[in-house]
Amino acid sequence: MNRSKDSSTSLRIAIQKSGRLTEKTTDLLHGIGIDFDNYKRNLMVKTRNFDVELLLLRDDDIPEYVQDGICDLGFVGANEVFEKDADVTVLRGLNYGNCRLSIAAPKKNSIQNVSDFEGKTIATSYPFLTKKYFNRHGIKVNLVEISGAVEITPQLEVADAISDLVSTGGTLQANGLEELFTVLESETKLIQTNLELSPGKQKLIEKFLVRIDGYQQAAKSRYMMMNAPEDKISAIKEIIPSMKSPTIVPLAESDMVAIHTVIPYTQFWNVMEDLKEAGASDIVMLPIESMII
Ligand code: ATP
Ligand code: ZN
Repeated sequence: MNRSKDSSTSLRIAIQKSGRLTEKTTDLLHGIGIDFDNYKRNLMVKTRNFDVELLLLRDDDIPEYVQDGICDLGFVGANEVFEKDADVTVLRGLNYGNCRLSIAAPKKNSIQNVSDFEGKTIATSYPFLTKKYFNRHGIKVNLVEISGAVEITPQLEVADAISDLVSTGGTLQANGLEELFTVLESETKLIQTNLELSPGKQKLIEKFLVRIDGYQQAAKSRYMMMNAPEDKISAIKEIIPSMKSPTIVPLAESDMVAIHTVIPYTQFWNVMEDLKEAGASDIVMLPIESMII
């Protein structure tokens, strides 16, 4: 279904109805101030304070719904977007639902190289991406398309190997399989239809993106506070390279100050000990709900 001229302003967003992406996606939507509830019972959910409605779908269907303009935006794994070869624009990578599409074979195998799969049978729910991978290596394989429980096919002698999504590797391990090659690294993406949208909707999407960027930046950052002798300020500034202009507040105790700053989460543990050594004390790190830079 193609929509010709879009004059509506209400944004329609596709999210997974029930599965691995659902909670993180609804947390993100709530986190950027979009208010809705009781979505489980309905296919369509109206939000209260943003001109947005949510369409709850199977994740496999989301790329097509967005491609065809039934939904303007969608939250879905890169694995589904690229498997469906959907004509959509990826607006953001969201760093959740991370996994990879991998080739795995029974542990006792003689595979050294991708070329050792020549003529072998591979079971997968991702035939398009898997075929593309082997084509790229100039290898011919027989693909068996299976919609679920791909990991048991080698035991059933339906296939020699599989191409399936892996996150921790626990399922492969439990089925006596060894992960050999990566076809695709995946994370949840925010996608937009390539069909023309009304100016009202485009504006709303821009607003939406500012909020998402703020939410993601906040998730990566921490608010850090510490006390220090006044004469240690420059030494402390040197330890935290990202700290451009920290807030410095005098304390009741003479010659002592409180230093407040925002740092990338990943730096905290690295700099903590150095800060202590430089004279900082009472170092506190707090999560940040949102930040607009
Ligand atoms: P639906 O009923 O919506 O079709 P599903 O069973 O196909 O659900 P889920 O298992 O909920 O899908 O996975 C949804 C998405 O989560 C995957 O498409 C992928 O992007 C991501 N994901 C992250 N880790 C894994 C994993 N270990 N196995 C499968 N999917 C994963
Ligand atoms: Zn699915």
